[in-house]
Amino acid sequence: MKSTRRELIKGLGALGLLGLLGPGKANAARPIPWRNWSGAQSCLPAARIAPATEAQLADALRNAPGTVRPVGSGHSFSALVPTDDTVLSLGNLQGMLRHDAQSRQSEWWAGTPMSQMGAPLAQAGLALPNMADIDYQTLAGAIATSTHGTGPRFGSYSDQVVGLRLLTASGDAIDCDAQRYPHVFDAARCSLGALGVVTRVRLQNRAAFKLHRREWVQRYEELLEDMPRLLREHDHFEMNVLLHSDVAVAMTMDETADPRVLSKQPGGDVDKVALLQRVHLEWQNSPRVYARMLNFLVKYAVSFPDVIDASYRVFANVRDVRFNEMEYEVPAEAGPACLREIMKKIRDEKLDSFFPIEYRYVKRDDAMLSMFQGRDACAISVHQYYRMDHHDFFARIEPIFWKYDGRPHWGKLHTLNARLLAPLYPRWKEFLAVRESLDPAGKFLNAHLRSVLGVG
Ligand SMILES: Cc1cc2nc3c(=O)[nH]c(=O)nc-3n(C[C@H](O)[C@H](O)[C@H](O)COP(=O)(O)OP(=O)(O)OC[C@H]3O[C@@H](n4cnc5c(N)ncnc54)[C@H](O)[C@@H]3O)c2cc1C
Repeated sequence: MKSTRRELIKGLGALGLLGLLGPGKANAARPIPWRNWSGAQSCLPAARIAPATEAQLADALRNAPGTVRPVGSGHSFSALVPTDDTVLSLGNLQGMLRHDAQSRQSEWWAGTPMSQMGAPLAQAGLALPNMADIDYQTLAGAIATSTHGTGPRFGSYSDQVVGLRLLTASGDAIDCDAQRYPHVFDAARCSLGALGVVTRVRLQNRAAFKLHRREWVQRYEELLEDMPRLLREHDHFEMNVLLHSDVAVAMTMDETADPRVLSKQPGGDVDKVALLQRVHLEWQNSPRVYARMLNFLVKYAVSFPDVIDASYRVFANVRDVRFNEMEYEVPAEAGPACLREIMKKIRDEKLDSFFPIEYRYVKRDDAMLSMFQGRDACAISVHQYYRMDHHDFFARIEPIFWKYDGRPHWGKLHTLNARLLAPLYPRWKEFLAVRESLDPAGKFLNAHLRSVLGVG
């Protein structure tokens, strides 16, 4: 006779086996490899766990042997997550906890993917003031690296946080904000997952709004010259500069009361990337033809329709072609010179890459390790198709960022260690002191974090 699902569960419960299958120990029995989005980072941890409650999580932190690395959606390019010991996901702690119409604040489980926040916020009449280029990240993961969008009057996600709960290595919970444990708060708003596990996040939202997105193709030199006006007149500006060419695809997004809805075309950027790749393969050895072909094709063969919709449907894009990425944040005023030097190097040395350079602006904040701590910044990202080697390409560009006093994005590839990072961050020692007091045994440190934070 076939047993029902209920009978089976009852039987397992009686045998004490449910605990082994429960979320807290879901994959403890057999190692399951972990890989990041680009495939460049991987590990074979002894355990991958996803606690279902904060109590289970606290128990896991007290009892897990070795290193514990919190993981979000695995969308960081740098080696923040890999460990041989325990990879801990908040995949079972998702969703909105509460919101308050008067203060326009909302509280979330930290494992919530950003893609799942827009609709519930809109139902509450609220929205995130700004969002990144994609929304696959989890809230905790995005905050841990000061993930950002664009707009000189908008900070990163770390800057939207007004309170959070951190579970430390001992399993204790710290609720912190600007009044309670302000030092922990300033450290935990961009923590690299080195302080403990963030379980809840309170955000400052704003009233729901619509955005109008416009894109056009223009010579990037003209755009750079016009930058002060573009930044003054638009809420959000960015450009994707085409390598080996003179042009960029410029993009503005502005709040609008336009009653129309012009929805984004479904799908990602696979066609556009394929076009860039084809031209690259065909013409990379004839630089002048290459530049002309690109200038022509992007102007006349690709369309960029306007989009008008709820903000959260406009901000984020689908990136369906994988790549590796290096990004540095240089002081805002140094952006144009830094970009020009990178473009010259790529042209002069015929560097082998076809992904555009992303060029954005971000407002300063005061989280200790945020790349935007104390200074407005221009974020410049270079990419390499995931099937092409990125090491040589990035190695040729990285010294240009250093020359302009750049700080590397914590979630993207760079080669700096603590000796070179410390002088870039005025609040560096404060962060190290908070980390030491919360996790003296280094439970949350993997090899990459030991190197970038300089902890032996
Ligand atoms: C296609 C693509 C587009 C991107 N676009 C942008 C962009 O527009 N702007 C930008 O700034 N970045 C961008 N990034 C980088 C990405 O936003 C960051 O690397 C982000 O941190 C990834 O979040 P995640 O949820 O995937 O976290 P993961 O990459 O899994 O982890 C990131 C960090 O968060 C920590 N962490 C995760 N959960 C917790 C927790 N509960 N408590 C404490 N620490 C935790 C981890 O330990 C790790 O240190 C992009 C990346 C990709 C692949």
